[in-house]
Amino acid sequence: MNQAINVEQLNSALSSLRTVRSNVSLVFETLSNGLRADHGEDGKDKFLMELQELLYIVSNNLRDLEQTVNALPIPVPFNLGNTTYLSQETTQDRQALYTQLVNSYKWTDKIHEYSSFAQTLLSQNSLKRSYINSGSTKRRGKLQSNHNVAPLQVDNVINNIDRSYNDMKITISRPFASNAVVSINLSHVLKAVVAFKGLLMEWVMVKGYGETLDLWTESRHHVFRKVTESAHAAMLHFYSPTLPELAVRSFMTWLHSYVNLFSDPCKKCGCHLHHTSLLPPAWRDFRTLEPFHDECKQ
Ligand SMILES: [Zn+2]
Repeated sequence: MNQAINVEQLNSALSSLRTVRSNVSLVFETLSNGLRADHGEDGKDKFLMELQELLYIVSNNLRDLEQTVNALPIPVPFNLGNTTYLSQETTQDRQALYTQLVNSYKWTDKIHEYSSFAQTLLSQNSLKRSYINSGSTKRRGKLQSNHNVAPLQVDNVINNIDRSYNDMKITISRPFASNAVVSINLSHVLKAVVAFKGLLMEWVMVKGYGETLDLWTESRHHVFRKVTESAHAAMLHFYSPTLPELAVRSFMTWLHSYVNLFSDPCKKCGCHLHHTSLLPPAWRDFRTLEPFHDECKQ
């Protein structure tokens, strides 16, 4: 919409420019022709009057042109510094540099614009987990304690959860200084690794029983990639700044429900494999823990 108006304005500015140019050339043409036979007896005065009239028209045209040009929304020019002179370069291969330069400036400009949009959007996002900058001091103190928990306390929480399951083995390691990385073996169904920061779950990766477990490589099986996605959603869903222990426990209960990943049918369509994706139900309801296909969960 805005652009259409701009094009119209640009057109009228260009046509004003054309009028100015054609009338200016008319002035010079008349001037170079000098006195003509049709000027008659007192040709000099008539000639001067004709010239004056033409100049008057030109000055009117010029005013029109100025008005239309001023109405044009002129984009803020890029400040290219000395590199602006590249546009005046005569060597062919260097001329190309100028266009590239302008393009890269446009890109950086866009990146700047988009990142400021992103910044605005993200600052409104309430899903800040580890670092809470806003809120009352009291609340902040409480939240920070979630990722500043002593390793021993984290161990206790996780070992307690481990003891409550026979078919889910949880082991703790600390490859990155004080924060725990927890490996979970769920029966012969799946393996998962959870990175903790204090008592906050920061990252989950789910893999098949036979696969090697690490934090960053995705499973080669579609179904476990789906379960990983669900686990990320669960991790955010169960997140509780005030009751971090409960969050971990709820997440583990939820993850444990995958013990029947390959045996229980979808609660909605009743099938083991979904008729199009051919995947087992890789979603578990957060509350009821019932199995659903991704496509059936709504
Ligand atoms: Zn289904």
